[in-house]
Amino acid sequence: MTVTTPITRSGHPATDTRSPTVMSAAARPHQLLDPSALVPPRRSELRLPKEGRRGRGALTNQSGRFEPLDREFIDDGWDSLDSLPALKTEVTDETARQIITRNDSPDMPFDRSINAYRGCEHGCSYCFARPTHAYMGLSPGLDFETRLFAKPNAAALLTRELSRPKYEVAPIAMGTNTDPYQPIEQRYRITRSLLEVLSAFNHPVTIVTKSARIVRDLDILSDMARRNLVRVAMSVTTLDARLARAMEPRASTPSKRMEAIKLLSDAGVPVGVMVAPVIPALNDMEIEKILAGASYAGAGTAGFVVLRMPIEIKDLFRDWLEENVPDKAAHVISLIRAMHGGKDYDAEWGHRQRGKGPYAWQIGRRFEIATRRLGLNTTRRPLDCSAFLVPGTGRQLDLL
Ligand code: SF4
Repeated sequence: MTVTTPITRSGHPATDTRSPTVMSAAARPHQLLDPSALVPPRRSELRLPKEGRRGRGALTNQSGRFEPLDREFIDDGWDSLDSLPALKTEVTDETARQIITRNDSPDMPFDRSINAYRGCEHGCSYCFARPTHAYMGLSPGLDFETRLFAKPNAAALLTRELSRPKYEVAPIAMGTNTDPYQPIEQRYRITRSLLEVLSAFNHPVTIVTKSARIVRDLDILSDMARRNLVRVAMSVTTLDARLARAMEPRASTPSKRMEAIKLLSDAGVPVGVMVAPVIPALNDMEIEKILAGASYAGAGTAGFVVLRMPIEIKDLFRDWLEENVPDKAAHVISLIRAMHGGKDYDAEWGHRQRGKGPYAWQIGRRFEIATRRLGLNTTRRPLDCSAFLVPGTGRQLDLL
């Protein structure tokens, strides 16, 4: 059964429920007696008023799937919801116990990854990593982009894990679940400290980002590139700055991302473009333009994934479509479902990234033709796993 719990002025759930903006269930005894209080709120009732979520991607702070309670914004009769301050970003330091995460997914081009942060302030409305915030007891909605976790001990853990005698070398992926160059990296510099460790160990790394902030680390990246230890993919979903601002509110603008591709390429860092995600009838018409722009800027490789809507994303992204592109929302959803066998999400290996059916086929062919015409994906040198060395020991470890 779903019941409601109040929200504080920060938009986060109240423990002390005496907020001036919302009244607690305890302070509204009529609601406790009223059986209608136990009826799940409509999605529109879960939405934080626009002022309160200015610069954010999600519209709601819908509870995660493990929570017994849902959240509802309630005006106390003083129009107090209209004057909500914009949500602030909160960062909690986390003492991680392990930093390299393994996976054995057959459709992933890597078997290990590092995420220096949990949650991502870029706030992309479609982000498929959002559901992971439910494991923290937090919302995959606004909490995912405002209540972040940083792992300041990440570099120390990485040093320890790479130094283990049985460690086997293979490229580590960064940017698989949260963006390593999201805004808080400016202050925390954890990604940079991880690159310093990887560089010292001659360890190969791949990076995916939607942030031009990566150029801050050109010194390390170009040095690693000379040793064939790094490859970067810039994720570009649209060249339309207004769409990007609404859909990925705190990621770099499309022009900044293109500029970053150029700077990386000029510095000798192998760089590609990821059109991710392709959203039918919303950005799929831009595939050729994005690839051409990225190729012109210096990208040598390209990839794409189609949008998928696992777990909480199906509601969060529907909300976003209905508010931002109401005339297209139903069409976009029906095409997404058509690409996933009639479902919001089809977890089948091999299909979840590229979709299936005629529309997915057409996207795949257009991508193929455009990359061929632009000369993208003609060479992809494997990163060097043979130079790995534990600093100070002269010890080279087993290769995978
Ligand atoms: S940048 Fe990547 S991790 Fe961050 S919100 Fe966007 S899609 Fe998610």
